[in-house]
Amino acid sequence: MYDCIIIGAGIAGAVAARKLAEEKGKKVLVLERRDHIGGNCYDEVDGYGVLIHNYGPHIFHTGMEEVFAYLSRFTDWYLFGHEVVAKVDGRLIPIPFNLNTLHMVFEKEKAERLECKLIETYGEGSRVPIMKLRENEDADIREIADYVYENVFLRYTMKQWGQMPEEISPEVTGRVPVLISYDNRYFQDKYQGVPKDGFTPMFERMLAHENVTVRSGVDCKEVLTFSGEGIMLDGEPFSGDVIYTGALDELFDCKFGRLPYRSLRFDFEHYNQDSYQGHSVVNYTVSEDFTRITEFKFLTGQQDTDGTTIVKEYPFAYTGAEGEIPYYAILNEENQALYEKYRALTDGMKRFHLLGRLAEYKYYNIDAMTKKAMELADSL
Ligand code: FAD
Ligand code: UDP
Repeated sequence: MYDCIIIGAGIAGAVAARKLAEEKGKKVLVLERRDHIGGNCYDEVDGYGVLIHNYGPHIFHTGMEEVFAYLSRFTDWYLFGHEVVAKVDGRLIPIPFNLNTLHMVFEKEKAERLECKLIETYGEGSRVPIMKLRENEDADIREIADYVYENVFLRYTMKQWGQMPEEISPEVTGRVPVLISYDNRYFQDKYQGVPKDGFTPMFERMLAHENVTVRSGVDCKEVLTFSGEGIMLDGEPFSGDVIYTGALDELFDCKFGRLPYRSLRFDFEHYNQDSYQGHSVVNYTVSEDFTRITEFKFLTGQQDTDGTTIVKEYPFAYTGAEGEIPYYAILNEENQALYEKYRALTDGMKRFHLLGRLAEYKYYNIDAMTKKAMELADSL
């Protein structure tokens, strides 16, 4: 009855499903254990009429024309240059740390000298990861590096990862480099914004195809069995392609131990006032137990609401307890080795494909995930 089964209706599963259904004429079954589609990109209107992102703020950003063009088939966009500020010493400074930030936190003459030094050393417009900047032995550069390390990275990273910046993968802190420019945007990609009427309608349109059947509220393990011999669907052998976008350890009952993840608790608050913080995202880099506060109306551009809803993010170590969601893979050699051990169990499963932030144990943005899903679907 089905040619392909896709587990998970997040961006990875949804893009793959649409392409296989539409371009390859495959009958696709999508199994999703949550009661909704969209994965972590899911958004909905809360009880106060405010459009919120249930699993944390999501801003689509990409420089990949083909990804933008593909998703644009399913949505119009509210495009903007996404800006983030951090609350440091009672004021709001632009993040990533850039030349505007430099001039805010150092007095005029010093800032001018430091600016020249940065441009001389790294070139105008360059992006310097904090861990690279800290390697520089020049006293001036060192002073900037120390400031940024102390005021932007140290405590935020301790909250987010439970580890110091030097203990985590440089790939992670490298996502928010020091910018040798006056660009206050968080991302430098050509396209950035959110779907005009929300992420969920974009997913609904993507999955609305005659060849796609979505069964939500179904854990794949209720209907699929995986063994060395192959895959069974509802007790019958299934010989088509299976794309799995869930956590790989769960598929094998965590028999080698759990893959470590960081999770988040989201505390939503609603206020009967026009604005709470006047910014979409404020990072708390030196104080508080939460990492950031997002005020949704400034992210989505929603205007037909008088009140405002915010969310605070509290990170913690994922334990696998019921209701916890694994959000961030913790990238290091030990965890990669454990992941490989699980991955090796799928070697004999010829038409079984691992795709997604969880299944690949990687730190993907929406655009990279979309691209990867497009490529996998093309290759089948
Ligand atoms: P998911 O969205 O997690 O989808 C996987 C789906 O599989 C889930 O719906 C899950 O319920 C389902 N599933 C798992 N196991 C099973 C099972 N056994 N049976 C059935 N279904 C199952 N990226 C950006 O580009 N911009 C951002 O601003 C951004 N912000 C982020 C903020 C936060 C707090 C987090 C955690 C991530 C953010 N990301 C952002 C990353 C983005 O969320 C991911 O790139 C994207 O969601 C990955 O899609 P996915 O399909 O791989 O995974
Ligand atoms: N980071 C930080 N301070 C900030 C912003 C980011 O220390 O103000 C570090 C932190 O370790 C974080 C990483 O940089 O996990 C990547 O940040 P990004 O905003 O890309 O994280 P995400 O949006 O994926 O949670």
